[in-house]
Amino acid sequence: MLVPALMILTDLGWTAQRARDFLPHAAAGLTPGRVSLEHNHVYRVMTEAGEVLAELSGRVRHLASGSQALPVVGDWVGLLVAHAGTAPSSAPTTNRATICLVLPRTSAFSRQEAGRETREQVIAANIDTVLIVSALDAAPNLRSLERYLILARQGGARPVIILNKADLCADVPAAVAAVAALAPDLPVHASSTHDGRGFDTIAAYCAAGQTVAFLGPSGVGKSSIINRLLGHETLKTAEVRAKDRRGRHTSVHRQMLRLEHGGLVIDTPGMRELQLWDASASLGQTFADVEALGAACRFRDCRHAQEPGCAVKQAVANGQLAAARYESYIKLAGERDLFQRRHDEQAQLAEKRLGRAASQAMKSRGGQ
Ligand code: GDP
Ligand code: ZN
Repeated sequence: MLVPALMILTDLGWTAQRARDFLPHAAAGLTPGRVSLEHNHVYRVMTEAGEVLAELSGRVRHLASGSQALPVVGDWVGLLVAHAGTAPSSAPTTNRATICLVLPRTSAFSRQEAGRETREQVIAANIDTVLIVSALDAAPNLRSLERYLILARQGGARPVIILNKADLCADVPAAVAAVAALAPDLPVHASSTHDGRGFDTIAAYCAAGQTVAFLGPSGVGKSSIINRLLGHETLKTAEVRAKDRRGRHTSVHRQMLRLEHGGLVIDTPGMRELQLWDASASLGQTFADVEALGAACRFRDCRHAQEPGCAVKQAVANGQLAAARYESYIKLAGERDLFQRRHDEQAQLAEKRLGRAASQAMKSRGGQ
């Protein structure tokens, strides 16, 4: 339920800059707040006076021509709060609010909606640091880490690499050094949720007022890290939840979690999906050379596999393009296509379900 406790805005990531930008809106009677959950166009918003449920004002809904302009988890918004005292007596006693504006974002993670033409959908906003998690139970996959680095930078957040499961690695310093060589000034830290190493460092990135997100393939320990950061109280409830959901911790209710030491973690289904989606969407950037070669293929939609007149395969044959680089491009392109197919199938299923529900509703109305 709604948390009545008072919150300190700076703990939620409010900065002097945001306060300055907000002055005219405050003068107009608006209250600042940060979106922690969106569900069916109802928003849960953290404010200084606790959490409120909010809906969009007609103006915001109207101005948000594309989904890009709608508030998302992590957004700072300007609210008109109907306090119990000032609202009509019929109003419920919990504070209800209207979102009147979305403040400019310092970072935003978005994806192109699958199955449609380039429509950008923002998934989460105002993330300061992206902690890219990899596991040391095998040699770090540098190519995959590179993709996550691109993804983090595209969103406008600072990337940090966490090499988890350090307890399973014989030569941790060597692994850290290999990964640190990926980019200059790239912070790389080893961690283990089993023996607790690295957690002081991870906690420092998640200090009060800081917003982080964890990216990385499934199975590397992201949920375990978040649970450990959440502290004992919440850990217990997380474990209860994990049991319900067949061993998987999913944060369906709170998409922006407050950590024991004040920081915020954004962990939404959208961010989890983004890991798959954008890591392959950035394929063209990572493999700009391959895509440039592909412009000379006979077929415009050449997949550079078996097609005749393929300029990419030609380049491999004459040594212009390294075979290993070609192989890794083909592998990632396959992943991207598979993801796209799955995503489209799910969309079709959902549509079918909706259609069925609608016709059932019509039938029952007709039978009245
Ligand atoms: P996620 O999919 O990235 O969220 O990964 P999980 O947190 O679900 O962890 C996947 C598995 O790795 C679980 O069985 C965890 O117990 C295990 N695991 C997580 N962190 C560590 C670690 O530091 N060391 C070891 N040995 N196992 C870990
Ligand atoms: Zn080709």
